[in-house]
Amino acid sequence: MFNRCQGLPDDPCPKGRCDASVRNSICDLFLCPDRSSINVARPPVSPADYESMTPIQQFAVDSGTNEMHQILFVCDEAGSGKIEVALKICEHFTG
Ligand SMILES: [Zn+2]
Repeated sequence: MFNRCQGLPDDPCPKGRCDASVRNSICDLFLCPDRSSINVARPPVSPADYESMTPIQQFAVDSGTNEMHQILFVCDEAGSGKIEVALKICEHFTG
């Protein structure tokens, strides 16, 4: 029993694949390799080095890169450095 590739909302699967290559993927969609490798965000590098971050930013980066944590909320005032944290976490997962 295989799952059929659902494709992406703006990019349906052209082949309608339904075989062992179709796996539960981004956003809980069942996608074949053709579709699961596209539409991946490529965020810019964080403007801040980890070493130059505040202790609370470093804590947030550490929490966000801990794969035991599936969801992380980062809340603070505008200009507090949330974007630097988010981009640093993205760097960890994009390699
Ligand atoms: Zn597909």
